[in-house]
Amino acid sequence: MSFTLAIVGRPNVGKSTLFNRLVGRRLALVDDQPGVTRDLREGEARIGDLRFTVIDTAGLEEATDESLQGRMRMLTERAVEMADICLFLVDARAGVLPADEVFADILRRKSAHVILAANKAEGNAADAGVLECYALGLGEPIRMSAEHGEGLNDLYTQLSPLAEQF
Ligand code: GDP
Ligand code: MG
Repeated sequence: MSFTLAIVGRPNVGKSTLFNRLVGRRLALVDDQPGVTRDLREGEARIGDLRFTVIDTAGLEEATDESLQGRMRMLTERAVEMADICLFLVDARAGVLPADEVFADILRRKSAHVILAANKAEGNAADAGVLECYALGLGEPIRMSAEHGEGLNDLYTQLSPLAEQF
């Protein structure tokens, strides 16, 4: 039994950093070279005894301002359809921005299982942003630092009861 987790959120919140941390060396194909852009990356992830497929929504950073909203929406909806569970990342240092609200709306409409994570939460510079996340109406945010590997225990705690359904 296994499941698919999509990491979603606006550009620059740390999705790829978390993806790389979860997938580690098990990512077969790395596409960091300039000019190589794919919209969705998939890898085999592991936290503790959980094994699952993880999807990173990439390719947004290259979009022009004009097309960004539309592309974000389209890619996120595609990832949500492919996924059993969505992990919604917010940049706790930046706080909740209007673009984050757009994602929250998509997730509330389209995803049965949403886990909310306030990323970049190492140190107390993120405290106010973490509190803002509660107002998204998606439950209690996990305090996470993808860069420092913090919050993975809490992610495991939220994932494991859901994982049993798949
Ligand atoms: P994406 O656009 O959502 O995929 O975001 P990236 O993973 O590319 O990260 C965007 C920037 O945020 C990079 O400079 C990362 O090093 C940084 N970043 C990611 N996670 C963290 C974190 O936990 N703490 C801090 N301080 N920076 C982070
Ligand atoms: Mg990325």
